[in-house]
Amino acid sequence: MPREAAKTGPALSGDHADAPTLTALRRQAEGCERCDLYKNATQLVFGEGAADARIVLVGEQPGDREDLAGHPFVGPAGRVLDECLHEAGIDRSDCYVTNAVKHFKFEQRGKRRLHARPNAGEIERCAWWLGAELNQLRPEIVVALGATALLSLLGRRVGVTRNRGEFITTPGGYPVLVTIHPSYLLRIRDRADADAERARFVSDLTRIADRVG
Ligand code: SF4
Repeated sequence: MPREAAKTGPALSGDHADAPTLTALRRQAEGCERCDLYKNATQLVFGEGAADARIVLVGEQPGDREDLAGHPFVGPAGRVLDECLHEAGIDRSDCYVTNAVKHFKFEQRGKRRLHARPNAGEIERCAWWLGAELNQLRPEIVVALGATALLSLLGRRVGVTRNRGEFITTPGGYPVLVTIHPSYLLRIRDRADADAERARFVSDLTRIADRVG
């Protein structure tokens, strides 16, 4: 049985942007100054996928590659996500892929730009766009890939470790599947541990296929 969350996060409650289409929404977001992250990022990285996608995958924020390319999940984590979706029997054309935060947050170290985790205020500000994407798409399932997505969707009462692999339903919302962000798999040094965690991630994703058929 799916568990019901007593409260939702900012992406599933309160006000959100409004536009007639996803394309119009993206155009609005290109001028966003709701937090400071637009100042240093190369460009906005909005969600992508079919307007009738049944599954919405929500990550954290664009990484270095995504920031330069202007597309979500095109770097190493995106490659892992694609492979694991395929292994779980999920067709990418059924998915819309986005992030909780639409601009890349990083710390400059010499020539390198190191990922920096968005804070709660930035996540809340950017939920203005994630909530609007979900309002447009009205998917059958939302997948929270990691803690930032989970905070935006379901707030603080749900945790990746505690609720991983579960569907959490929300009042008037969507079933949210809780799992890790695929970048986590890239950080595991031990080969056996990495293989085991990858298999567990595929198993989590298989629950989507079981549900949408
Ligand atoms: S990160 Fe989100 S809220 Fe902040 S400026 Fe970018 S689009 Fe706007």
